Amino acid sequence: MIFDIMTLFPEMVENYFQYSILKRAVESGIVTVRTVNPRDYTENKHRKVDDMPYGGGAGMVLMPQPYVDAYESIERCENSLTVMLSPQGEPLTDRLVNELAGYEQLIMLCGHYEGFDERIREIIKPKEISVGDFVLTGGELPALCVVDAVSRKLEGTLGKIESAEEDSFSNGLLEYPQYTRPREYRGLKVPEVLLNGNHKEINEYRLERSLERTRKKRPDLYAKYLERTQDL
Ligand code: SAM
Repeated sequence: MIFDIMTLFPEMVENYFQYSILKRAVESGIVTVRTVNPRDYTENKHRKVDDMPYGGGAGMVLMPQPYVDAYESIERCENSLTVMLSPQGEPLTDRLVNELAGYEQLIMLCGHYEGFDERIREIIKPKEISVGDFVLTGGELPALCVVDAVSRKLEGTLGKIESAEEDSFSNGLLEYPQYTRPREYRGLKVPEVLLNGNHKEINEYRLERSLERTRKKRPDLYAKYLERTQDL
């Protein structure tokens, strides 16, 4: 899968792929990450990419020319989707991540300052994605959230040992509590059932804990889960 990330700060995103699971995914060719800097495409003699908003107001707005030209320089696969990171977009969820993982290429526009001149949206027609109802200074962290979450869904990114199958949200529930060594820490013991090697009992225990956690922490998800399982 190819991720083309349009950003004024390429180093911010490139650094992220120097570590851990995503580093391995890049090295093994499961994902390719490329950055494109709109500043390299500006026709402005001072290399400007932003200007004051028409009509007044605070902050600087990203100009259409550098963004549209940078976008048009990117080689497109047939099965490609263009995403604009924006607090006004569709909230990023596990369902949306699965949908994005079905593309061969994601082209992502990271905004900054006050955001994009509206004509960038009109010309490029991206799918807008938000990472939550709050406003960040730039689209780089949201883009990395998308790349990270989507990459985990691609075959081979996670070793068997790191399987995503039981992660929170994969079955509509939050994941059960996890324990590792030691068996007892500060008087807190690992539940006995996890030590007995009986996989049927372990699975039952985990499902119960998963249900209980979801009901307490995310009643909205729990209600949806009940609705779905009652329909089956
Ligand atoms: N003025 C814009 C608005 O109110 O919609 C916000 C601009 S924000 C300061 C700058 C950039 O950060 C945005 O263009 C977007 O790329 C990114 N950004 C900020 N919050 C985000 C969020 N919750 N989800 C996705 N991207 C976000």
